[in-house]
Amino acid sequence: MYISILLLFLNVAWKVDVPISNPTNFYSVKAMPGDGVYSILRRYELDQHSCNFKKFYTLNKLKRNAQLKVGKSYQLPIFIYEFNGKTIRSSIGINDWDLAVRIQRYNERMKEALLREDSYKKSKKLWVPFHELKCPNSDIEIPSPVEDNPEEVATPTNGKRNFPIFGKKYANTPLKSNRLKGKVFYVVSGHGGPDPGAMGRRGAYTLCEDEYAYDVALRLCRHLIAHGATAYMINRDPDDGIREEKFLSCDNDEVLWGGLKMMRQQKARLFQRSNTVNDLYEKHKLQGVSDQKMVIIHVDSRTKGERTDLFFYYQDGKKESKKLAQNLYKSMKRNYKKYQKNRSYTGKISSRDLHMLRESSPNTVYVELANIRNTFDQQRIVIPKNRQYLADWLFEGLLEK
Ligand SMILES: [Zn+2]
Repeated sequence: MYISILLLFLNVAWKVDVPISNPTNFYSVKAMPGDGVYSILRRYELDQHSCNFKKFYTLNKLKRNAQLKVGKSYQLPIFIYEFNGKTIRSSIGINDWDLAVRIQRYNERMKEALLREDSYKKSKKLWVPFHELKCPNSDIEIPSPVEDNPEEVATPTNGKRNFPIFGKKYANTPLKSNRLKGKVFYVVSGHGGPDPGAMGRRGAYTLCEDEYAYDVALRLCRHLIAHGATAYMINRDPDDGIREEKFLSCDNDEVLWGGLKMMRQQKARLFQRSNTVNDLYEKHKLQGVSDQKMVIIHVDSRTKGERTDLFFYYQDGKKESKKLAQNLYKSMKRNYKKYQKNRSYTGKISSRDLHMLRESSPNTVYVELANIRNTFDQQRIVIPKNRQYLADWLFEGLLEK
């Protein structure tokens, strides 16, 4: 008799729901240079639940995929509860022991990562990720897929296969095949904005690296789009499409994907660039895209004016990146043999510790087209037909498995 009363009592106590108390507010944080929604949520371990993204957009009255402004404060989907000095469970009003432990560890990790200054015990501020209370089960709802061509998404008023980024003459890009459908590519031309890159001279003309890299990048991107890929031009010049001139004028009005103005300071600018790519990468990853590649194009001058054939860098220790470089290399070798009968290709492949290779999530290959200061090499980029060949051959390499 006594035992059953006790059991009854326990049973009742177990079932009574302690009401969840109200949090005081949400945690706010200032956006840092290069921050995007994904990178901020990732930093605070909030990127595994789609409800956190939704909450972030509503809290801050933002449209999806909106750009963040550096220095502006944004509310994160993290509730702040007053810690009552006793237990996490009684502070929030929950019974779930495991949940309380998860919240405790979360607060400790945030402190260790220096994302919060004091411990919750000291400051009496307990951080509770939104998803822990509202959508604890891994509920990753796949966002609606973007349309086939991101260029279209960026300019929705345009006709179906019209991509103004390629310039008037080349904007219309008919679909030739669907062999790259479902694959995502990031085409990044080096430098741009405040930074023209290496500069060469040819007669009375100044050759700016960023302009020539950009022209080849556009031609490559157009190939990818014509074959059904989702392809992004990360560096963008609003008024330079594909150009048929030999001498491309140097300007500095390039911006990043999303219309983002490039930062002046080099390190910040590089992070801005890799973060732009990584945010898009995360978005596509959530959609289930497994094949994401990046091609970075430069026309540097490291070898004091010496002639150099096209060469490639890959991401150190990353097999897929090395494979990608090898595919492009093979395509170059094959095409040199076909078109340049009097000499053989001497380009090389190696790994290198460069920001964009180190910090970027996609499988990346970094291409050096030529030495912009070498008179012979210059023909490879100054003659428009040659720029097209370079793009064609790079594209051929990208088609390989
Ligand atoms: Zn460069």
